[in-house]
Amino acid sequence: MRVVTDGIENFLQDESNSKSTSIEKVYIPENTQELLDLIRQTNQPWTIYGGGTGLVGGAVSDGGIIISTSALNKITIDRKNKIVCVGSGALLKDLNKELLKNNLWYPVDSTEQTATIGGNVATNAWGPRSHKYGSIRNFVQELEIILPLKKRLKISRGEIIADNDTFNFLLDDKEINFKITDLSEKIDLKSSAGYYMKKNMDLIDLFIGAEGTLGIVTDIKLKVFDLPYDIYAFMLSFSDRQKAFEFIKYIKQKDVLSLEYMDNNSVNLIKHRYPILKNIEYLVFFEKEIEEKKEESILQDINDMLEKFNIAIDRVKISSTKKKNSIVYEIRESLPQTINEMIRQKNIKKISTDFAVREENFDKMIKIYDNILSKTKIKYFIFGHIGMNSLHINFVPEDERQIEESLELYNVMAKEIAFIGGTISAEHGIGKLKKKYLQYMYSDQILKKMKSIKEIFDPCNLCNRGNIFD
Ligand SMILES: Cc1cc2nc3c(=O)[nH]c(=O)nc-3n(C[C@H](O)[C@H](O)[C@H](O)COP(=O)(O)OP(=O)(O)OC[C@H]3O[C@@H](n4cnc5c(N)ncnc54)[C@H](O)[C@@H]3O)c2cc1C
Repeated sequence: MRVVTDGIENFLQDESNSKSTSIEKVYIPENTQELLDLIRQTNQPWTIYGGGTGLVGGAVSDGGIIISTSALNKITIDRKNKIVCVGSGALLKDLNKELLKNNLWYPVDSTEQTATIGGNVATNAWGPRSHKYGSIRNFVQELEIILPLKKRLKISRGEIIADNDTFNFLLDDKEINFKITDLSEKIDLKSSAGYYMKKNMDLIDLFIGAEGTLGIVTDIKLKVFDLPYDIYAFMLSFSDRQKAFEFIKYIKQKDVLSLEYMDNNSVNLIKHRYPILKNIEYLVFFEKEIEEKKEESILQDINDMLEKFNIAIDRVKISSTKKKNSIVYEIRESLPQTINEMIRQKNIKKISTDFAVREENFDKMIKIYDNILSKTKIKYFIFGHIGMNSLHINFVPEDERQIEESLELYNVMAKEIAFIGGTISAEHGIGKLKKKYLQYMYSDQILKKMKSIKEIFDPCNLCNRGNIFD
């Protein structure tokens, strides 16, 4: 086990710009046994640090010790069964690289390539292609977890299932028994907010999205797919938002891989770099998997669609993975990069919403945003996973007063989105920064139930203290 005391700054902050305090040591176990030994010996609280790309302060801590998963990074591919065993500290980019060599892919891909797979499991990560394939939850087949009970739990999907609302199982010689509350209505949408609880659920799902509050994930088995022959990415431009939304509603019914959107403020921000965006206000992006010899028929379908919506061909750009033509991706990715650069230059914290609603509440969601945003002069940019009714509103405040106003707008939106049954965290989790919004989504009783489950697995509150719960 490496114990680092010098040069530990890289382990002390995440991408929300939250910082750890009073940390003197970072522990870097080389294998699961070393980690288990550490947990058995220490009585200090510990915080797990994956890639540090989290956006809610989950990997930072005030005191205790930091455990980095960076050395638990082995990747083993079972090509025949399309299963990959990944150490929790393996980076998404390394997993993607290894899979590609084997002509396989993991479609969730949560964008930020230096995230770890353990971090992805902890936050129940989603990516643009979750539009078709769902979150990492749909891919996890097995987890190995070091529990704060100082035990190792290896659990496969299907192995321990709740009997209606009750879990009852043996952990070595210890009987574990607890009840859950069925939250199906709240969680059957794109959400990573609080514990996942559902009638007859699989125990493995409780640990996915628990933000490390129930234990340290050490090994993960993921199912993966054969790489598609090609992926086409389409970018369509609109001058009218209503028309863009009509098109989005239509294409949502089709078999597309991802469906993303950029509003007029966003397009205006990056226009100067891309002449093809001249006279364009709104952008819609979608991807499609292409089977060999089916390219022609896909393009014909797209042409029919353009005709149906009266969209001129010069308003469409296409990228293809196989042809390594990436202009559509370049434009899509340039927006968050440009916003992050603005934020860095102003040296302020990014204030970005991460809400989602059910399909039937899409129009209500847009009304809430229009209504609240029409009253502010703060710069904002709306973009993201519109196919999953999940948009990020990025505020770029100019000064302290505008920062406060942005946070107040955020708060009002969180309340209203939760009121219509939406989630206050679609993909980033709760961590330490979004705890206050969780009460808009869940009653005290449900939050108490979640906390009581935490107490069963972590009676001394040692593991990722302060995440999700105070
Ligand atoms: C530019 C950018 C784009 C992003 N895009 C997306 C996106 O499209 N979709 C999305 O879902 N997220 C996105 N994120 C957020 C972030 O990448 C994810 O939340 C990611 O899953 C965090 O992984 P990490 O390894 O960096 O975790 P960290 O930031 O290190 O930790 C995140 C949380 O997980 C816990 N944790 C980490 N490893 C373990 C483990 N082995 N066992 C138990 N708990 C653990 C930590 O304690 C912490 O609470 C984005 C972030 C950035 C900066």
